[in-house]
Amino acid sequence: MSARRVVVVGAGHAGFTVCATLRTLGWDGELTLIDSDHTLPYQRPPLSKKVLAGEQTLDDAHFRPHDFYGHYGIDLVLGHPVVAIDRVERAVQLDGRPPLSYDHLVLATGARPRPLRLEVLAGLGPESVCYLHTADHSSDLRERIAAGKRVVIIGGGFIGLEVASMAACAGKDVIVFEVADRLMDAPFQPPSRSTSMIFTKPPASTCGCRAPCRRCNASWIDSSCTTGSRA
Ligand SMILES: Cc1cc2nc3c(=O)[nH]c(=O)nc-3n(C[C@H](O)[C@H](O)[C@H](O)COP(=O)(O)OP(=O)(O)OC[C@H]3O[C@@H](n4cnc5c(N)ncnc54)[C@H](O)[C@@H]3O)c2cc1C
Repeated sequence: MSARRVVVVGAGHAGFTVCATLRTLGWDGELTLIDSDHTLPYQRPPLSKKVLAGEQTLDDAHFRPHDFYGHYGIDLVLGHPVVAIDRVERAVQLDGRPPLSYDHLVLATGARPRPLRLEVLAGLGPESVCYLHTADHSSDLRERIAAGKRVVIIGGGFIGLEVASMAACAGKDVIVFEVADRLMDAPFQPPSRSTSMIFTKPPASTCGCRAPCRRCNASWIDSSCTTGSRA
């Protein structure tokens, strides 16, 4: 086995997929997947749906069972956030573990909910406010909803409304606050200039197909390519 090592920081959808794809493509070096979360890598969408409603367990949301990682030689380092990157030494520093060297580093650290510091603004204790991004948040929120009478949700986008729906179905009083003048405003904004460029029809290719194609260099992803020469 090669001595090279790829270190992937973040075991969400992006980080997990990088690891699985590297093995699929034949990467035979060391492969380490790090996450600050202590839980086996999982999909987040069920956290505001069936897992939150208690209709699925977190096991159902795991990308793959634990054996998968051993089978494909993916070292999991869970529960240890990366706190610094030493680019000169090519090493990541972990909280609570010795540094780990890398030849290639992938940062797949995703996004986080924006903290609003509501505890400070409204004089609430931290126990009154929670966010929804991790499996722990989801199980915490499920217990809070079960125990409470009224649920106040800040953010009327997909995730906020999914939680609102679940809480309403559980018989709770639900109030949703949204800063825009309508719900789901951000997801359904008209496309910005850069977005509309993505959806602009590509220039016609010379061989007539619109898929990534070695023959005509078309880069538009489309299943209509029938030439069999897709990249
Ligand atoms: C509740 C919820 C419901 C969703 N529902 C849908 C849906 O229905 N449909 C849809 O298309 N999308 C949905 N999404 C969005 C979707 O889950 C995200 O687009 C996707 O998770 C992004 O994947 P990612 O790997 O880029 O980032 P993330 O999933 O955020 O993963 C990043 C990982 O990096 C880790 N990390 C961050 N910093 C460090 C560090 N310093 N050290 C170590 N690890 C670190 C984090 O712990 C995290 O596990 C939902 C998201 C949430 C939270």
